[in-house]
Amino acid sequence: MKPLVAIVGRPNVGKSTFFNRMIGERLAIVQDMPGTTRDRLYGDTDWNGREFTLIDTGGLELGSGVPVGQIGLTGQPGDIMDHVKAQAQLAIEEADVIVFMVDARSGITAADEEVADLLRRFATKPVILAANKADNEARRQDSVEFYALGLGEPIVVSAISGIGTGDLLDRIVEELPPEEEGEEEEDEEEIPRIAIVGRPNVGKSSLLNAILGFKRSIVSDVPGTTRDAIDTTFEFEGRKLKLIDTAGIRRRGRITPGIEKFSVLRTSRAIERCDIALLLIDASEGLTAQDTHIAGEILEQSKGVIVIVNKWDLAQQQRAAEREGIYPRPDEEIPEAEEMRKQLEEDLKFIPYAPVIFASAKTGYHVQSILRTALNIADMRYLRVSTSRLNEVVQEAVRHHHTTIIRHKPFKIYYATQARVNPPTFVFFVNDPESVHFSYTRYLENRLRDAFGFKGTGIRLQFRARG
Ligand code: GDP
Ligand code: GDP
Repeated sequence: MKPLVAIVGRPNVGKSTFFNRMIGERLAIVQDMPGTTRDRLYGDTDWNGREFTLIDTGGLELGSGVPVGQIGLTGQPGDIMDHVKAQAQLAIEEADVIVFMVDARSGITAADEEVADLLRRFATKPVILAANKADNEARRQDSVEFYALGLGEPIVVSAISGIGTGDLLDRIVEELPPEEEGEEEEDEEEIPRIAIVGRPNVGKSSLLNAILGFKRSIVSDVPGTTRDAIDTTFEFEGRKLKLIDTAGIRRRGRITPGIEKFSVLRTSRAIERCDIALLLIDASEGLTAQDTHIAGEILEQSKGVIVIVNKWDLAQQQRAAEREGIYPRPDEEIPEAEEMRKQLEEDLKFIPYAPVIFASAKTGYHVQSILRTALNIADMRYLRVSTSRLNEVVQEAVRHHHTTIIRHKPFKIYYATQARVNPPTFVFFVNDPESVHFSYTRYLENRLRDAFGFKGTGIRLQFRARG
């Protein structure tokens, strides 16, 4: 996992200007698919050969779905401060390095002082003070006043003109934690990594505890929980599985409780790191837009996935009550499993390979089948298809369904080969890689799935010109 560098500071100091300067065009182009349309507020970049992920905390969405920086404009007095504090909290909990940005034009404000105070008291990671908008010499001189914040010497920058940003990046890189050897531990490569993801309150931490067999959450009040606590390896039916970001699942908002502020970022990072995502939805609420969004992200990253309809004990209770002649209010009614499954398959048909399991973290219902399914998916992700069998399937597929003629020449597949596993990735050598239509890719994917399975996992198809 790349180290995380968070930019915090009150609105309008220039956080997003700096962020865009660093990330700008590098931002992943998000595909036009359900749930994958939002802007990224974090992105990967590098400086002097060190890679890191930069996050603009100013644009983070809170529970209300309104970007942090905008809430104060229409909301109650004090909102801005809450949100700036919330950013600082994110940075304290998640980041390896914190860049605290202030505005050299306006000098120190009360908000700056509050944030500085939070960072001084709670941050266990390096904090770099950056005085932005120091566009000219006079401003650069004035920036000495920021010493008063008690966070050391300010790095003087102008995000707009780029002056000083190199020095700031030098400082960031200096403060990054030492590079991990080989990034992902080689010897553990084969242990399937599982992420539990879903909206707040769907039961992630309950499922985590059900899986690990604990009675209650282990809550640590020590700020900056160590990295080791992030992942938990355990055995199931003689095989190892690793639950990732367990610390993040257990962690609750400490400084400003009440809103699960950073689930979006945490979810994205967990999906990135995992092989298989357990996407929890709440049986009593059904699928929401946010669930679909997470599914889209899993698809985009070709991860394994199980859709878990959690809290199924509530449905079971309801059925039992109905048998005794007690009916729920219509708005509280949970549909029958088959009806719900159909609806889910319809709503999630852009990710048709996802198995659906009805489960209860509370009673333990189907928790073992979740793990068994996860192991099967892990096997699917490591499945290697022989080149000859693969090409038989591809030839057969082409015979049944020719592609259209594009730019006056017929599209041709010469041969295909499996380039890698986890996720299974297939390279098709063709005459014109540019002309492969999305629907034909989909068709080929379905033929591969018919032939080889890959139940529960994304696969990748790539097209290259035959050299
Ligand atoms: P954020 O709310 O902290 O993300 O701030 P923005 O990046 O949106 O910037 C707020 C305003 O400050 C915008 O109008 C920017 O153009 C301006 N700004 C950002 N960086 C600089 C700078 O280095 N110099 C000057 N003069 N203006 C800047
Ligand atoms: P998280 O925010 O996703 O980690 O969700 P929690 O695990 O904290 O659970 C949120 C609430 O849902 C808690 O009150 C749990 O007791 C409850 N809950 C979680 N799983 C189940 C379940 O399977 N059945 C029922 N009835 N309640 C559950």
